[in-house]
Amino acid sequence: MSDVKIKRKSWLWNLVPLTGRNRFSSTIGSTIYLTPKRYDDYHSDSPSVRTQGLVIHETVHVRQYQAEKLLFGLKYALSRKARLNYEIEAYAAQIKFSIQHHPDRKEKYIRQKAKVLSSTRYLLFMDYESVHQKLTAKVDEIT
Ligand SMILES: [Zn+2]
Repeated sequence: MSDVKIKRKSWLWNLVPLTGRNRFSSTIGSTIYLTPKRYDDYHSDSPSVRTQGLVIHETVHVRQYQAEKLLFGLKYALSRKARLNYEIEAYAAQIKFSIQHHPDRKEKYIRQKAKVLSSTRYLLFMDYESVHQKLTAKVDEIT
């Protein structure tokens, strides 16, 4: 993990549209920018499963970037199919981690993340059922 940097989002992030300082964490290249709340929790004595899972999600994006460099950003921004696959990989890793702590919540996590992925946030324009199916398949593949 030494090639992954984790930083606290500064006030400057308030100037960036769509992602704010306090709403979402963001990853640029090999640097993960956590919201102040997540950052403080991550560096506390007992970070929550949710925060650790989020860092795992963002770390997958760092690995995707490191594997493809500039191409990753281009494909993520320009191709819905590529963006979906990058996010499915990241959410599946996040769910895999989370169910190690809460095995009874697998279906709940998958539903939750499928809902987010099929929302307007990711501009995937994919229906919930298809995303749910794809995410379930990926989780089953890696667990
Ligand atoms: Zn993501």
